[in-house]
Amino acid sequence: MTKRLYLINTFYLILLAGFLSCAAAPEQVDHELPSPVNIIYFVGDGMGYNHVRAANYFEHGEAGVQVYEQDDWFHAAQATYSAARIDSDGDTIYMNGYAPRTAWQDPRYLRRDYTDSGAAGTALSTGHKTIGGAIGMSMHGDTLTHVAQAAKAIGKSVGIVSSVPLSHATPAAFIAHNHSRHNLREIGRYMLFHTQADLIMAPGHPGYNDDGEAEEMSTRYIGSREIWEQIIANDGRTEFYDGDEILYVQDATGDGRRDPWTFIESREDFIALADGPAPRRVLGIPKVYSTLNQGRMRGQEAEMPFEQPLNENVPTLEEITRASLNVLGQNPEGYFVMIEGGAIDWAGHDNNLARLIEEQIDFNNSVRAAVEWVEENSSWEETLVIVTSDHETGYLTGPNHPEVVADPVVNRGIGVLPEVSWHSGTHTNMLVPFYAKGPGVELFEMFAEEKDPRKGPFLQNTEIAQAIFLMWGKPEIEVHRLNK
Ligand SMILES: [Zn+2]
Repeated sequence: MTKRLYLINTFYLILLAGFLSCAAAPEQVDHELPSPVNIIYFVGDGMGYNHVRAANYFEHGEAGVQVYEQDDWFHAAQATYSAARIDSDGDTIYMNGYAPRTAWQDPRYLRRDYTDSGAAGTALSTGHKTIGGAIGMSMHGDTLTHVAQAAKAIGKSVGIVSSVPLSHATPAAFIAHNHSRHNLREIGRYMLFHTQADLIMAPGHPGYNDDGEAEEMSTRYIGSREIWEQIIANDGRTEFYDGDEILYVQDATGDGRRDPWTFIESREDFIALADGPAPRRVLGIPKVYSTLNQGRMRGQEAEMPFEQPLNENVPTLEEITRASLNVLGQNPEGYFVMIEGGAIDWAGHDNNLARLIEEQIDFNNSVRAAVEWVEENSSWEETLVIVTSDHETGYLTGPNHPEVVADPVVNRGIGVLPEVSWHSGTHTNMLVPFYAKGPGVELFEMFAEEKDPRKGPFLQNTEIAQAIFLMWGKPEIEVHRLNK
């Protein structure tokens, strides 16, 4: 090769290398993950697509009318199955996941391998699938980190709100750690004395029954009568006695001082807290035992929704939502709150359409109250709102199931009960709705890569918390293996 040819080739090679280097240099894309100031995480316990549709038909005579069903919200379906359950012989039965094709072909399929609220709540809160009945614990008995703890680690406030008792499966699964959802007293004590929650608002009042009438009830949701007496003293104490044990409330603000609970119970107190300055740490237990309204007049439930008046002296979930967002919104660092429409599930277990529609409407009104809070006090650049469920309850379908597997309920117009049929008194393995609006929805879009023939893209229950940990970080929290 002549010297001249060698020089020409070298020149072109240098030219090419130069071109490639500037062509390949990617434009500096800002890979900064979004970091919401606030996250409002709604869980409709037992809420399936047909539950939402049934309430829409009764209240509005049409489907798709809820604020979270609009196109400016991200929508996907969510798979709810857990890792395993313990059967009656004490054997561990691993779940078989969710099979999109079989789900719509075999009407019996969805009645199997369904989760409970403990395992589902734990998955939604920690990003881990676990065993039935576990609360914030792995299958191996290790404590799992809650997204609420990630919020605390970055100076945010934390709230737990529900329409069922404070220590029940879902509220507990977002803040507590216990092997069994049935250890209600232990869980109640844990939530009051071993967490840094800034707000807990939910029923479980041992002085009122399900009709909101004064009656001495069990203290099982709180811990003990002794603890209860000290709570309602509402005197700012940080040290409690329970038998020969001394219990201390935690330092919720991180300033090194223990933060006492401010206790409220009357409906007026909840409504008053929806605006203006608020106590730093609020324990709100309305004057009702197990659910805000679903359990009223048990055994004499009316045929139509709202035919029997709601419990007058008990706030609705919407009113509690407004109070909780005002209290938590006072922290300039932001907050995390889980708001559960828990009694949708209880009405589903009862196959009671009237009570289901009441609970679903109160849940919908609570979401709308949160949207108002965002648009008046924050923005969709700052606040992420998630609306989803932990599992479906009742196998609620239209009239054509099983010929048409899980067909939609049928609209019969405003004020008329839609045409439905129930095919279970417990949970199913159906996909459930997932909606989100605000910073971070692109992460959920990325996670929703599985496909269902009827519901389209779906994500796993665990991936919601995983996305939140990606945005807020996952604090190094010592893992404990708790003894049974
Ligand atoms: Zn249930």
